[in-house]
Order: sequence, then structure tokens, then C-alpha cells
Amino acid sequence: MLLANYHVHSDYCDGTNTLEEMVQAGIAAGLTSLGLSSHFPLPFPNDWTMKEENVESYLDDINNLKEKYASQIELYCGMEIDFFIDRQDISDLAKVVLPRLDYTIMSIHTLGKTTGDDVSYIDESQQDFEQGIKKYYREDKQAFFKDYYESLEKMVKIFEPDILGHIDLIKKYNQNNYFFNENDSWYQELVRNCLDGVAATKTRMEINTGANMRVPGVGRYPSDWIIPEMKKRNIPITIGGDSHSIAGIIYEFNQAEVYLEQCGYQEYWMLKKGRWEAQPLGV
Ligand SMILES: [Zn+2]
Ligand SMILES: [Zn+2]
Repeated sequence: MLLANYHVHSDYCDGTNTLEEMVQAGIAAGLTSLGLSSHFPLPFPNDWTMKEENVESYLDDINNLKEKYASQIELYCGMEIDFFIDRQDISDLAKVVLPRLDYTIMSIHTLGKTTGDDVSYIDESQQDFEQGIKKYYREDKQAFFKDYYESLEKMVKIFEPDILGHIDLIKKYNQNNYFFNENDSWYQELVRNCLDGVAATKTRMEINTGANMRVPGVGRYPSDWIIPEMKKRNIPITIGGDSHSIAGIIYEFNQAEVYLEQCGYQEYWMLKKGRWEAQPLGV
């Protein structure tokens, strides 16, 4: 049984439950280590991340919850921080807050220009994603995917976050191979090159189980074929539900554990007493 979840949202961002409700759900599900990871504020208008003015109360709330539930679960204060392809950087505010966190997830959700109020997203809708590729890559999808994976690699090399979030988020709206075919060698090559880069750092990759809950049929991030490639490179893993409600607190954890073992993974990484430790799978 998997005992940890380090990708948990709340009503500080686009989740539906409070931090405390998520903590209680984690305890009820038998988790022993839980990382709270609301979306870090973005330096442009949006309706899905935490507001800048709420950062302090988020940190305070988690500190209080750590004390209140200390006898039942270990809690960790994280955030999901955005890396921007156009800036090849995270926000200035993220750099200031980062040292105060117990751990960080870094992810890419945007494409193109990240100024103004009409920023394009990878994961908002198929239409928005398609428009973004049209606008910034003159419909050259391959050019965007190359930029995406190379930027993830750069992000990991510069910041070495504790966790790389949902590496292949770009497949979220790829039903019926709408944007690309994962079996194509050019695509697999991009992913493999990115994995080579990640493997040279200390960053762990998350097994993100929540995708199916939000868009049925997406599967997990990363896709099944990628996990043996990660194993070959000895890339350490964490478990993340990308939980946006209490119903998602351990969503598809059992299936993920079975598949990881099939791929030869024997352990995942957990925060215990503030330190990352390997935890055996299948126990
Ligand atoms: Zn994300
Ligand atoms: Zn998330």
C-alpha cells in the first residue's frame, strides 16, 4: 500500500476542499506522509493558482495543521511552482518563497508569452492548447513539443526541484492522437532525451495518478511506456495524486503500485521526519 501523496491541491488554488479536509482525507485513507502543494501564484492574471496575498496564510495554516495532526500524520508544506518556457525561469516571487518550503514540485502549464492577460495553457482545454500552438509555433506542433521537453530538462538542471510534476501533461487533450502519436519515434526520442537530463540530477519524478479523474481515459502521467525507461535510468519516483478534492486523495494508487512493480521498481521516495527516504513498494 502506498503511504504518501505529495501532490495535493486545496481551495487556496483550484481544489475544492480546504487544507484541513485534505489532511483528514489523507489520514482516513491510511497515508502516513502528506505533502500539500497548492499552485504557486503566477505573475499574470489567472483563476487557478493561489493569490499572492494568501501565501503567508497558506504557510501559517500548514504549520498549524502540522501541530494539530502531529500524532496522526506527517505533513509537509510544498507548492507546485511553474517554470515558464518563454522566460526559461520561475517567477521572482517563487525564488523568494522557495527556501521556506519543505519541498517543491516544478511543472510547466503554459506555452508562449507569459505576460498580459491572455496566456495560453497546455491543460486548460483542447481548444486553448491548439490556439496556443497556432499562435506561438505557427501550427508546428513538433517544435512546441521539443521546446516543452527541453525546457523541462533545463528547469530540472537549474533548480533541481524535489519533484518533477506530470512530465507528459501535453497528452491531456491528445485523445485519438489529436496532437501527436506517442508511438512515433521523434516523440519518444524527445522524452528519452529529457529523461537522460533528469537522471543526471537529484530530482525525482512523480507518478501522477490523478489524470483519469479529471479527464477520463488520459491514463497516468507518465504514460506506461515511459516508466521502464525511467527505471533503466534509475530515476527515483514519488507518488502524487494531483488531488483536487478529498475523493482524489488516493485515486488509482493501487493500480499504480502494481504497475510500478511490474516495471521493476522496488521503492518510491517518502518524506519521513523531514528527510527523503526510500520506501519499499508492495508492503
Ligand atoms: Zn500541474
Ligand atoms: Zn497539480
